[in-house]
Amino acid sequence: MIRVFNTLGRKFEDFSTVENGIVKMYVCGPTVYDYVHIGHGRTFVAYDAIVRYLRLKGYNVIRIQNITDIDDKIINRAKETGKSWEEIVDYYSKDYLENLSLLKVKIDLHPRVTQHIKEIINFVQGLIDKGHAYVAPSGSVYFDVDTYPHYGELSNTKKDQWNQGEEFVKEKRHPYDFALWKAWKPGEPYWESPWGKGRPGWHIECSTMSTRYLGEQFDIHGGGMDLIFPHHENERAQTESLTGKPWVRYWMHVAFLNIRGEKMSKSLGNIITLKDALKKYGADVLRYWYLSSHYRSPIDFSEENLEQSKVSLQRLKDALAVLKDILKEGPKSYSKDEDIKVQREIIQKIKEFDEAMSNDFDTATALKKIHEIANIVFSKLQNTRDFLAASIALDGFRIFNEVFGVMDEEMGLAYERIYEVIDGIIEVRNLLRQKKMYDLSDQIRSILESHGIKVLDSKDKSTWRFQ
Ligand code: AMP
Ligand code: ZN
Repeated sequence: MIRVFNTLGRKFEDFSTVENGIVKMYVCGPTVYDYVHIGHGRTFVAYDAIVRYLRLKGYNVIRIQNITDIDDKIINRAKETGKSWEEIVDYYSKDYLENLSLLKVKIDLHPRVTQHIKEIINFVQGLIDKGHAYVAPSGSVYFDVDTYPHYGELSNTKKDQWNQGEEFVKEKRHPYDFALWKAWKPGEPYWESPWGKGRPGWHIECSTMSTRYLGEQFDIHGGGMDLIFPHHENERAQTESLTGKPWVRYWMHVAFLNIRGEKMSKSLGNIITLKDALKKYGADVLRYWYLSSHYRSPIDFSEENLEQSKVSLQRLKDALAVLKDILKEGPKSYSKDEDIKVQREIIQKIKEFDEAMSNDFDTATALKKIHEIANIVFSKLQNTRDFLAASIALDGFRIFNEVFGVMDEEMGLAYERIYEVIDGIIEVRNLLRQKKMYDLSDQIRSILESHGIKVLDSKDKSTWRFQ
């Protein structure tokens, strides 16, 4: 049985899904006005391990992570740089998607706010119709917090703490009401609505997009801890007010990645971009470092911590190499009593790995268990060369890697890279064709075809497929 710590109620709960066998999950993604940084990476990888573990346990998982592509910060960045807001969004969402993929995090859907304006307007209208929201003279629409009796439960806060961080607007009924729709100001992008020109407030996007794709009730909603208030508190108030039903089963929040004791954030200007970190340490080491702490414990960035992670991960990779070596020798017909003891010890560690993961996804303890197996490999198996023990240990490493995703290459799972490499070759060939260097491009084509890769040429671009 999996146990999950629910931010709502601040207690551990047994995990059960709304629909049998399927986990529906929505995580708040980035606002694309700057480079994605290693703090974001932490949250995204933490959920990645959770999703991978749930899949390993036999669940189907639908995983959605939005892109906030309209927001005050984006508009301000456009003003500062003299670029259009669309250019800003285009540039930084590419950075996000590219680095997420390099970090080996796979998302099933990346809904963008500006593609869901119609749905957002309908959501807001529904709240107005039910008396939970009101239109102010400016054409902005606010949520009336007093109409939702559970407000403050998620963040465990009281009225005097409900600072929405929005500029205090006189037209609000209460200072703690928040904007669902912001009336247009000159120089800002806008969409037409029943209340005039304007754009969505921040929180409404996630309520609208998550329920559109996952339904009125789903299993996991998360993000970093900074989102508990006001973002998730407001999302919950809006959604439950509209549907009249309890919304999310498990609210999960990832602790911050800090640097010199401060939260890493774009607005504090202390970021290390994911791109730079990936270049310097690679995805495996970065993921290993993130997952060596429990997702609810803060982590501190330092060069030494990452160097240490590199060394520890290498130890696991070395242990795996020893196992593969033993397994080459083939199965035996007899194990000594001592070997059987070791086999059982390894089975026990694998069981403990699973127990740690099922205990609120405790990757830190799970990782220790894999290191204990590696210790057994070096201290015992390397000498005894017991095939059965090595085979059990290899299975442990396979399960570990399915959750952590830090040694795909060593496990022989790096085939996806091949696709990227072929894409790269085709791109170079496209350039050669543009320059009319047909000799070279023909040569590349015949090399690829001799490896079973068919090149499909059209007028200005080529693609490929396996033959
Ligand atoms: P933002 O672009 O700031 O809206 O953040 C996108 C996601 O990354 C949210 O789920 C944030 O909570 C999370 N996040 C941002 N900064 C950090 C950090 N320093 N540590 C962990 N998670 C973060
Ligand atoms: Zn959100």
